[in-house]
Amino acid sequence: MSTEYHRSGGHYIGGRWREPTGDRSVEVRNPATEEVIGDYPSATGDEVQEAIQAAKQSQVDWGRLPAKERGDLVREVADLLLEHKDELASLLVEEQGKPRSVAEGEVEASADLAEYMAEWDRRIEGDILPGDSQDESIHLQRQPVGVIAGIIPWNYPIAVFIRKFAPALVAGNTLVAKPSEVTPVATLRLTELIDEHVDIPDGVYNLVVGGAETGEELVTSADVDMISMTGNVKTGKEIMRQAADNLTEVSLELGGKAPAIVWKDADVDEAVDDVLTARITNTGQVCTCAERVYVHSNVRDEFEQKYVEAAQDVEIGPPESDPDMGPHVNARELRKTEDAVERAQEEGAEIRLGGTAPDEDEFADGYWYEPTVVTDVDQSMDIMQEEVFGPVTPIMEIDSLDEAIEYANDSRYGLSAYVFTNDYKVAMRASEELEFGETYINRTLGESWQGHHIGWNESGMGGEDGKYGFLKYTQLKTVYHNYS
Ligand code: NAD
Repeated sequence: MSTEYHRSGGHYIGGRWREPTGDRSVEVRNPATEEVIGDYPSATGDEVQEAIQAAKQSQVDWGRLPAKERGDLVREVADLLLEHKDELASLLVEEQGKPRSVAEGEVEASADLAEYMAEWDRRIEGDILPGDSQDESIHLQRQPVGVIAGIIPWNYPIAVFIRKFAPALVAGNTLVAKPSEVTPVATLRLTELIDEHVDIPDGVYNLVVGGAETGEELVTSADVDMISMTGNVKTGKEIMRQAADNLTEVSLELGGKAPAIVWKDADVDEAVDDVLTARITNTGQVCTCAERVYVHSNVRDEFEQKYVEAAQDVEIGPPESDPDMGPHVNARELRKTEDAVERAQEEGAEIRLGGTAPDEDEFADGYWYEPTVVTDVDQSMDIMQEEVFGPVTPIMEIDSLDEAIEYANDSRYGLSAYVFTNDYKVAMRASEELEFGETYINRTLGESWQGHHIGWNESGMGGEDGKYGFLKYTQLKTVYHNYS
């Protein structure tokens, strides 16, 4: 049995590895060096259909297994993640460019999430209601949705994969997952490990590699019962359109443009720390990253000065050496960040820090960009409206809470927001009025698995994590029992 599909590519279908038959492939590069890691064959339409059929055929038996047994298998995957943390983290560093400790944190958090979701195995509850007729009882019971298509982005390849795999399987669904074409390596390795060490019945879990065309093949199938996709807004809309023909349910976790409101009574040092962490984590490539700052005029100068100083101290370097910040994932993402800053400059913004790649020789190859602070911005500029997904912080002054909330809500996105204040009334009003799925008060980014991660507005629909994220992977059935 080969264990090298994560180096050569392959598709995992019906409990077996398949040698790819297609002639298309995706090239994967190390973002820090631009070296080619490998050329990964894309699944053909036939291969995707085979994976869907394998998932469909295994679903009924899997759904009938006691949920505790399904949960136990997902717990084994959690253990596997921890046992192979170093190896999986190394692959994440190599293919995605995240600093070593962030990669290890991703694997640990994924194990924790799998553990959390497995706990739902004995909590799949329904309701029993009295009927309207004599001797009638109404049972609302939760059943699996069926075959799930899990579409994964490149920024947290393992964590977002587990975010779909664990609840889907615990709830009794089967899965065909597709990693991002940019970062398939760690997911392929995890799949090898699952295949070797965890006795999941054949067909319950399948993995196909490829880009948009492979994804399209998956989301347009009438045999897929729900699409759980994480990625950008444009792709989410495209998938929703494609799903419409079969009325396939969609759960979309999309991009964000999180505002950070720094109120006049905030602890400025802590706000600087938390906003900067929320901006540069994973080189700004997190959907919940703080993307725009609204700071009260009373503390604007102090905040701006301290933020620039702190951003200047951010250490950039080879991800394996565990710096504060690594490279962008690829040339396309770097270009997007460069364009956003150039456009802001053309529109009249001032670059207070950065705005360029670091110029030392060690950064000659790779997709590097310095932490960047932009001031003199106004609400209409793209830099305040469009997701940047890079380490760029535009800072804008506000004078009132009304103004801060109005600007924060003036966005097509609605994923996360941050508020820094010691005034209870301000915190309450902001959390009440901000139109975002999650609001962080006096803290930096990072969700807890028992919470609920959901985008409002164009940031998505469906939601993940916690009770409500788990229940997305079930569907309700009503049974009327007449026992007269
Ligand atoms: P992307 O939309 O380019 O790709 C995401 C996935 O969709 C990939 O696997 C891709 O191959 C696939 N895909 C592309 N076109 C498709 C199609 N027509 N049909 C089916 N599948 C298709 O996103 P990305 O660049 O990989 O990820 C970055 C984006 O993801 C950012 O906007 C970020 O904010 C967002 N994101 C959101 C969350 C969240 O939980 N809300 C988490 C992580 C990332």
